[in-house]
Amino acid sequence: MTDTFVTAATRRVPEGLPTSIRHYIDGAFVDSVGGGTFEVLDPATNEPYLSAAAGKQADVDAAVAAARRAFTDGAWPRLRARDRSRVLHRIADIVESRDARLAELESFDSGLPITQALGQARRAAENFRFFADLIVAQVDDAFKVPGRQINYVNRKPIGVAGLITPWNTPFMLESWKLAPALATGNTVVLKPAEFTPLSAQLWAGIFEEAGLPQGVFNLVNGLGEEAGDALVKHPDVPLISFTGESRTGQIIFGNAAPYLKGLSMELGGKSPAIVFADADLATAIDATIFGVFSLNGERCTAGSRILVQREIYDEFVERYAAQASRVVVGDPQDPKTEVGALVHPEHYEKVMRYIEIGKTEGRLVAGGGRPEGFPTGNYVAPTVFADVRPEARIFQEEIFGPVVAITPFDTDEEALALANGVKYGLAAYVWTTDLTRAHNFAQSIEAGMVWLNSNNERDLRTPFGGVKASGLGHEGGYRSIDFYTHQQAVHVSLGKPHNPTFGKAATSAH
Ligand code: NAD
Repeated sequence: MTDTFVTAATRRVPEGLPTSIRHYIDGAFVDSVGGGTFEVLDPATNEPYLSAAAGKQADVDAAVAAARRAFTDGAWPRLRARDRSRVLHRIADIVESRDARLAELESFDSGLPITQALGQARRAAENFRFFADLIVAQVDDAFKVPGRQINYVNRKPIGVAGLITPWNTPFMLESWKLAPALATGNTVVLKPAEFTPLSAQLWAGIFEEAGLPQGVFNLVNGLGEEAGDALVKHPDVPLISFTGESRTGQIIFGNAAPYLKGLSMELGGKSPAIVFADADLATAIDATIFGVFSLNGERCTAGSRILVQREIYDEFVERYAAQASRVVVGDPQDPKTEVGALVHPEHYEKVMRYIEIGKTEGRLVAGGGRPEGFPTGNYVAPTVFADVRPEARIFQEEIFGPVVAITPFDTDEEALALANGVKYGLAAYVWTTDLTRAHNFAQSIEAGMVWLNSNNERDLRTPFGGVKASGLGHEGGYRSIDFYTHQQAVHVSLGKPHNPTFGKAATSAH
């Protein structure tokens, strides 16, 4: 493995990599009002490579004011759906045409393997295309009360949407919020994650080229506790769509409460993959390897707990561990790489701490620390613990890295209790050839999304979101349209109004 050794000297650096980035407010790139900046690290070397403007209250105020002007006075909220859709399709075209460059920059900034970053760039384009189509097909309800009333829904954009995103698939997750927020006629302020601000910068040029009016899209970089917090507490931002950790979601929920904001919360997960003895074993192993090690394991819907029926448990663990040991760790920019570098040394330390905890809680059968040949950078060997008990921390807590816990079960009831026995409820994956069991299991599992005999393949029309500590509200398809719009009910009387008459009592003598 020493030939893949990555140092600052051998690291493949994308051509034209910027060394500083700024906010984008009212159609112009600007520095922070206070001039502050923060450093961004290259995950493969942990060398600082970029200085980003550190937004604070004054920068957020300027961005919100621009978005507010574009909303109250500008054309965007008033355009016909078809005209907004055309702009969104142009955005999708541009993203598609630059997918390789986007992937290169995203992979460099986040440590994601380049082939997977490319998939995420294409998905970002698809998110725009999907909402471009959806918005022109949008219908709203009308209700008739014969002879008396006709009532209809007047759907309206809400105003300035605050979009706060995490670092795990930055550009794609930004598109997941930007596309429906813009499609419905809102204006936005985006606060991307401070570990990975590079790709968000590209939206500005893409949107300008596609013809999005000035002030509709605004971007403030900065720390969560400063720029993110100012956005959450801004009185002119009625909506916050947040994706990130459950703990941060709780803080934001509390901070938004005095303003009674609309909140959409996509939070953490500890999703189970349940493998029954009748499953196609080879397929289940491939899928559960991909399910936890793709995107470096930094995936909200990762199947990070694998529950395996006792009859096949030993064989499963042996084959799984052998295959996990062959997963290729390498430079994120190398197309052969399957697991790249974790995003940041702080996150790397957290994952490593969990691996040490895991060594006291389960039987280590693959990985277990830094892979050979990678003395620097945030590299973690794909790590597998077997015989993990349900009370173990590595069974209960989100690690968000290439680490999986495998636990045996005997009966369907036991599998269900194990699957549901954590605070999270984002996704679940069930592997069985028994249809009745698969459906019954899906209905009983506490998860926002269930995949039966399938990896995490999204249909963009379906709801996306978690239950329990994994989230509040659903986005995806029409649910996103609902989140980003008011549905005003307009009641029209047909003919003589139906008025109970007050104040017509016989005049009293006085
Ligand atoms: P995080 O909660 O640390 O940060 C997310 C964003 O919130 C960042 O932009 C950060 O700057 C900002 N932030 C932090 N504190 C804030 C505050 N007080 N006020 C306002 N904004 C604040 O999450 P992360 O570490 O960037 O991302 C990883 C987490 O995201 C994992 O838990 C993962 O499961 C979750 N995630 C969930 C989904 C989903 O759809 N459910 C998708 C991807 C990631």
